[in-house]
Amino acid sequence: MKSRWTDKGAREAVDRWGNRYDEAFALRVYTARLIGADAALVLHGGGNVSLKATHRTRSGDDIDAVYVKGSGRDLADLEPEELVGLDLTYLRRLRSLELLDDEAMVDEFRTHLLCASALIPSIETLLHAFLPHRYIDHSHADAVLTITNQPDGVARVREVLGERVAVVEYVRPGLELAKAVLDCHESNPKVEGMVLLHHGLVTFGDDARTSYERHIELVDACERYVEEKCRGRSLTPCFERAERPADLAARVAPVLRGLIAEPTDDEDQPHTRSILEWRAGDNILAFVNSGEAKTLAGSGPLTGDHVIHTKLKPLFIENPDWGNDTALRAQLKEAVEAYRRDYIGYITAHSGQVEKLATSPRVVLLPGAGMFCWGRGKRDARITADIAEHTLIAQVRAHFIGAYTALPSNHVYDMECRSAQRRKLGSRAQRPLESHVVVISGGAGAIGAAVAEVCAEAGAHVAVADIDEERIASVVRRVEARSGPGTACGIVMDVTDEQSVSAGYADVVRIYGGVDVVVPNAGIAHVASIEDMGVDDFRRVMEINAVGYLLFMREGIRILKRQALGGNVVVMASKNVFGPGKDFGAYSASKAAGHQLGKVAAIELAPAGIRVNMINADAIFGDEETPSGLWSTVGPGRAKSRNLDLEQLPEYYRQRNLLKVRVRGRHVGNAVVFFASNATPTTGATLPVDGGVVEAFPR
Ligand SMILES: [Zn+2]
Repeated sequence: MKSRWTDKGAREAVDRWGNRYDEAFALRVYTARLIGADAALVLHGGGNVSLKATHRTRSGDDIDAVYVKGSGRDLADLEPEELVGLDLTYLRRLRSLELLDDEAMVDEFRTHLLCASALIPSIETLLHAFLPHRYIDHSHADAVLTITNQPDGVARVREVLGERVAVVEYVRPGLELAKAVLDCHESNPKVEGMVLLHHGLVTFGDDARTSYERHIELVDACERYVEEKCRGRSLTPCFERAERPADLAARVAPVLRGLIAEPTDDEDQPHTRSILEWRAGDNILAFVNSGEAKTLAGSGPLTGDHVIHTKLKPLFIENPDWGNDTALRAQLKEAVEAYRRDYIGYITAHSGQVEKLATSPRVVLLPGAGMFCWGRGKRDARITADIAEHTLIAQVRAHFIGAYTALPSNHVYDMECRSAQRRKLGSRAQRPLESHVVVISGGAGAIGAAVAEVCAEAGAHVAVADIDEERIASVVRRVEARSGPGTACGIVMDVTDEQSVSAGYADVVRIYGGVDVVVPNAGIAHVASIEDMGVDDFRRVMEINAVGYLLFMREGIRILKRQALGGNVVVMASKNVFGPGKDFGAYSASKAAGHQLGKVAAIELAPAGIRVNMINADAIFGDEETPSGLWSTVGPGRAKSRNLDLEQLPEYYRQRNLLKVRVRGRHVGNAVVFFASNATPTTGATLPVDGGVVEAFPR
């Protein structure tokens, strides 16, 4: 590991933040970001830093202050205001307390902030307050943990870092750890840092660069040691499969997603759902396919901070029966159930309450297919995957240099409960499609894009399936800009091609883990009277709108069934189904076919808890960003059929409905969310989204 400090970077930081904050503060933010930039030091909100300074109050008094990273904030993109100022003199008086639980500790922080609207500072704030140093840097560096997570961790730290550091036994973060660290400092005032066993590294200095570079030097020494010891070592391969991991992942992901769903007490949404991050890089495959995997996977987390994301351990499936889907499902089911029993045992053994915590694994390791990490959303799943990946690499290295030894499970449990409590404090209200996966064909068109946007705002992750790569990318960007990175993905799909449809769905399940809502929507239109209809034109419309709906629904339904969590199909039919117009025979017939397929599917799928409903929207013209492809093709013809100019069409459609409204794509999106969230026990129904057109009333 190399120092990332550059004088140029430091100067730029001072230029950037030096106006509002002084140089010391700007450099604090700068080196915090340098630590955050190294995934081998901290991951996703891990680690923390501080600065001590003087704060002038409004009444003109200068008081001692400590600025500590806000809880859960990422060091990589830390902003100055995310360093939370507190009254240092007061915090130091807390040393005299025997105990301070989390709630009381947070209360002490809140009442001693220098700015009332600041974030809650890190759980390790007192450690920063108690130590005397101006700058303090703290990480959970992989290499340090690889060395401390050994039966002879202390001796190894001494061997590698000598007397440069003091060693602190594991103590729970908070007041206890802060006191232990201060005691240790008082008996070793000359050290450059402290290694916290099973936890990480703390360094300090009078200036930003010294504290940061000491950190890097110490971690670098640990990395070199680990590398040296691991040279020439490799895992024992013991599992081989001819199929590509990607194919196995597509087969198994929906099954796993169904099995790990947790029951809820809501009859209308009887299961929680999760979103997948699947990974199968060389490191991961070497691990899951190795003879050592089972033991190492069960050996516990690198540090207590990680358990909220990964749980105590992943679920490792020994010898998955890839040759037989039924046997594989039974094997996975049994393994998930056993995991849950073990987990309940672990909670009750530490006198915890099971109902407060989800019991399913967050990480599943499958020989042949890789690592399956689950979270409430893609972002959570990726965080879990990053931590799990770093963990298994560190476990392998620790195994090569000695014997990987995790924190005792009572400490892990303690951290898990505390993090769960903290997380609950910050959790937002459940949205109607939270953690649902919605797949939309024609997703890049005017209606499809609006449906994607509205569903994502309702909490869903959306797969935008379409044929035009550029338009898909633009919709994905639009959804992600509103709902966050990873909430949308693009799938290139030709709905008339069986191969393309099944390959597209395979992509969706590798990206998100499964499917909950299928929205067949891709369609074209053709303007011609029946008398003049070219058979090729008719066939083309039927091929996309009717055969396309069939294939898109068929493949989606197969996944819904494998997943076994119920689900929804929302068929985009048309106002034309009940209220056809002249010169629009091909479109009307094809939409009637899709509508009828929906009704039959409702009958067939009810036993599996899958609801199928239809939406009859009237003309939707889209907007500048996503104009309607269909209307740009058929607009002139439809205008002609109605003796209108092209630009008169939107007003014509507005005036013909009872409410005199313009029907927009987002209205259709709202209808999809209504059906997909099981708001009413409805299947086989048609909902008009047309402003009220009497001749198209459902009957
Ligand atoms: Zn820590």
